[in-house]
Amino acid sequence: MRHKQSTSMQNTPVRAADLPAIGRLLEWPCIQEEIKRHGHQFIVRQLRDYLAKLRVQALQSELFYSAIEPEQFCADFSIYLQEKLQPAVRSMINLTGTVLHTNLGRALLPEVAVQKVVEALTSPLNLEYNLVTGKRGDRDDLIEQLLCELTGAEAATVVNNNAAAVLLMLNTMALGQEVVVSRGELVEIGGAFRIPDIMTRAAVKLVEVGTTNRTHPFDYENAITDQTKMLMQVHCSNYEVVGFTKSVSLNEMVAIGNKYGIPTTVDLGSGTLVDLTQWGLPFEPTVRQTIEAGADVVTFSGDKLLGGPQAGLIVGRKKWIDAIKKNPLKRALRVGKLTLAALEPVLQLYRSPELLAERLTTLTLLTRPQEQMHKLAVQLQPLLAQKLPPGYTVRIESMHSQIGSGAMPVDLLPSFGLVISAPSESSSGSAIMRIEKWLRTHSKPIVGRIHKNELFLDLRCLSEKECAYLHRKWGQT
Ligand SMILES: *Cc1c(COP(=O)(O)O)cnc(C)c1O
Repeated sequence: MRHKQSTSMQNTPVRAADLPAIGRLLEWPCIQEEIKRHGHQFIVRQLRDYLAKLRVQALQSELFYSAIEPEQFCADFSIYLQEKLQPAVRSMINLTGTVLHTNLGRALLPEVAVQKVVEALTSPLNLEYNLVTGKRGDRDDLIEQLLCELTGAEAATVVNNNAAAVLLMLNTMALGQEVVVSRGELVEIGGAFRIPDIMTRAAVKLVEVGTTNRTHPFDYENAITDQTKMLMQVHCSNYEVVGFTKSVSLNEMVAIGNKYGIPTTVDLGSGTLVDLTQWGLPFEPTVRQTIEAGADVVTFSGDKLLGGPQAGLIVGRKKWIDAIKKNPLKRALRVGKLTLAALEPVLQLYRSPELLAERLTTLTLLTRPQEQMHKLAVQLQPLLAQKLPPGYTVRIESMHSQIGSGAMPVDLLPSFGLVISAPSESSSGSAIMRIEKWLRTHSKPIVGRIHKNELFLDLRCLSEKECAYLHRKWGQT
């Protein structure tokens, strides 16, 4: 009888006035535990917010007495806290097939760089302190020699990213004056970076020459006036102009520049320091080749093909690099110590190019043999299959990965992965989105790629650790 009564009571909506008071809640042992973990102030604030939520439910007669019994209340509040404390920055599993994925943080760094970053975070360092003279130093000096050695340039500097590098170069070398760029190279990269917009903000005048598909040497020559301060070439990172095309080679541009005494600069975008064809990857002009072709200043990213931290590297003639370093904007765009700590060991790996594919994570991933991904697919397919709701299927399939970040958009890397199909009667796409969401809401969120109503999980970027996680997660029945 008593039992029955309490059950019916549990199912009665709570009156708002019956919600427990904060003062009383603070005495509950489970709340005391939370206070030990997170401190009094935080827990009081969270209890207030949580009770406000319950009050709304109570006023709508949607809260039952069972929810405010200590055991249930504590369990629910603990979940509420967990969600609240979930960090916004989360690590994920990249099964998109795009190795350098801008939305997922681009290059993964090798362990040597990670060690250096940890050191830089936890110990003082010679960021701006010259250990030879005991005087104040320049943070750029830390990597300048190494960059010069690897690129053949006279001088080098580094800023926050390549967009900053281009902005600073333009603003230093052509402030208020004209810069000549081919119409075929007025690119937009990843939405927010557009060459014409950056030029406006750098306070230089863009002089467009040629047409979208064809630009000739005479186009540049005809555009040169006494206002012209620079000829700029921009790497067409994320698209390719094919068919009836003509562009002016860097050698030709440099020859024109030299004839009129105007510097030629190149925004190389991804920029690589080694010839990637030795690993069967598509050809990309290296920074050294670009310098050897006579470019006065070259800019490129640190976290694209280079495989390092986010940074913008600027190399070239000493005269121009010195001017760039003196630009007051340089101070606003400078890199932090963590970037420098990570960049140096990555650059050092390039001193032993024959070992690079083993050591540089980005290159290891780009050159990963297809059999490895196949092996992973064979292991994971049955685990995933038994986790999917009835009607869904998962098959092993060969697929193509992409390099990403605008590097070589049309060249694809043979890979293997899993393809999930929704039950055949569902064609709306919501059935496959349900699985996409399930993967995205894993404790380590997984992201794949939807193609023609199927979900592709390319296993190229799956690390051993991540694979072990999937075994744990999908292995339980
Ligand atoms: C990627 C890219 C940029 C921008 O580089 P961030 O390092 O992302 O700032 C600029 N120019 C070209 C040609 C690029 O490919």
